[in-house]
Amino acid sequence: MKIVSTIPELKEVLPAHQSIGFVPTMGYLHEGHMSLVESARRENEFVVMSIFVNPTQFGPNEDLDRYPRDFERDEKLAREAGVDLLFYPDTATMYPLDMARVTVRQGADVLCGASRPGHFDGVLTIVSKLFNLVQPTHAYFGLKDAQQVALIEGYVRDYFVPVTIRRCPIIREETGLAKSSRNVYLTETEKEDASRIYKGLMDARDALESGHTFNEVKQKLTQTLSEIPDSRIDYVELVDYPTLGEATEASSEVLLAVAVQFERARLIDNVIWKRG
Ligand code: AMP
Repeated sequence: MKIVSTIPELKEVLPAHQSIGFVPTMGYLHEGHMSLVESARRENEFVVMSIFVNPTQFGPNEDLDRYPRDFERDEKLAREAGVDLLFYPDTATMYPLDMARVTVRQGADVLCGASRPGHFDGVLTIVSKLFNLVQPTHAYFGLKDAQQVALIEGYVRDYFVPVTIRRCPIIREETGLAKSSRNVYLTETEKEDASRIYKGLMDARDALESGHTFNEVKQKLTQTLSEIPDSRIDYVELVDYPTLGEATEASSEVLLAVAVQFERARLIDNVIWKRG
């Protein structure tokens, strides 16, 4: 595995005539990230992972400074997973002038976008930069961040970006808690309590399956989540997927998405209900 931090080095190492699978991350790797690498490994001759904690997707009062980092450990995990090239740039490399950024026009006013203004502009800006640098044939994103996947797919269509986006399933702890770099912020008790999020989502999906209305399901899920101790609900929403518009009787896929704020960590999770 090669590790590069600058653009000239990156250009030198990228192969010219092979399929390139790309896995962008913010590091502090876990099995969720590793599952994306596995998919990339299966489908491509060359696999690139990036590790970059992107400042423009963090709000002023968010956890940019304390976001967990451990490059040595990440490097080892990436190597073991079969990454060919690890791109580990600094902020000056990724934002040489910061004269231009990508803006989301639709789908950023709901779910995480509503509580994190500007977050998805930052995400699409960095993804766009990374795509231009790496020029992957395939790029791998986790459905853990379902809104992010939908907006990246929209960006790729709107900008005719020559890449195929692959949606990858959410990897969970045995308790059901979705794996996340931010889970290190949780105490053991909070981790146990947080596993109730997934149980609530599963019950909600079952309720949709057995014909309950979107409103009933939302209310019941809100009730379940409100009983989790020492936490506060940020949102509970059902939206059409992947348009992120209103869920209707015509929606063939409905995203049930939640965000719950614990003392030091804001957790997100979701399930997608497919009609029929
Ligand atoms: P992050 O490092 O948190 O920016 O995540 C990098 C990529 O890994 C994104 O595409 C995430 O959606 C994906 N990812 C993070 N956690 C999980 C998980 N538990 N299961 C599947 N994919 C994940």
